[in-house]
Amino acid sequence: MAQVAVKVVEKQNNDENIMGVDLGLKVPVVAVTSNSKTRFFGNGRQNKYIRRKYKVLRQQLGKAKQLKKIKQIGNKEQRWMKDQDHKISRQIVNFAKENHVSVIRLEKLTNIRNTARTSRKNEKNLHTWSFYRLSKYIEYKANLEGIKVEYVNPKYTSQKCPKCQTLNKANDRKYVCKCCGYRTHRDRVGALNIMKAPMADGVA
Ligand SMILES: [Zn+2]
Repeated sequence: MAQVAVKVVEKQNNDENIMGVDLGLKVPVVAVTSNSKTRFFGNGRQNKYIRRKYKVLRQQLGKAKQLKKIKQIGNKEQRWMKDQDHKISRQIVNFAKENHVSVIRLEKLTNIRNTARTSRKNEKNLHTWSFYRLSKYIEYKANLEGIKVEYVNPKYTSQKCPKCQTLNKANDRKYVCKCCGYRTHRDRVGALNIMKAPMADGVA
């Protein structure tokens, strides 16, 4: 019995594979694992297209004073986005499973309470709110698979060099560190830093 227990502990330590997940807009989600696998999830362009379609529809109905229909369309859009988040979170957790990830790290979102209240006024807040929902879906599905979810401080995650911590601005699609010369695709930087980040205080 004792031998078995020791073996299990060793196995956990050796297999510790951490995955950083960066939620974005153009590319909705980027995941990077500590054994160097990268995967992009979702379709930013399609998201943008669908949301624009709903916006135009609402404007047209607004001019015609069709308030009830505007509300229906709003609900339909919400359901569609929720459904997207369920699908993407499932794909993310499946990818984590395939790669034997034991910990998923996400950005800790700040001011989420204020954001929820003012979400309709502000596009950016609306995005934060949908990131929050997606985070919670990932957490829920991951926990069911025995994968831990940790929230990390989001400061400078897209600018910081994953190797030497210098802050750089990415040009075009490439991220090049002016200090150590580290280079990678700009969309990977956030996920890499989230993967390596120390944990934020408390939970989201
Ligand atoms: Zn560097």
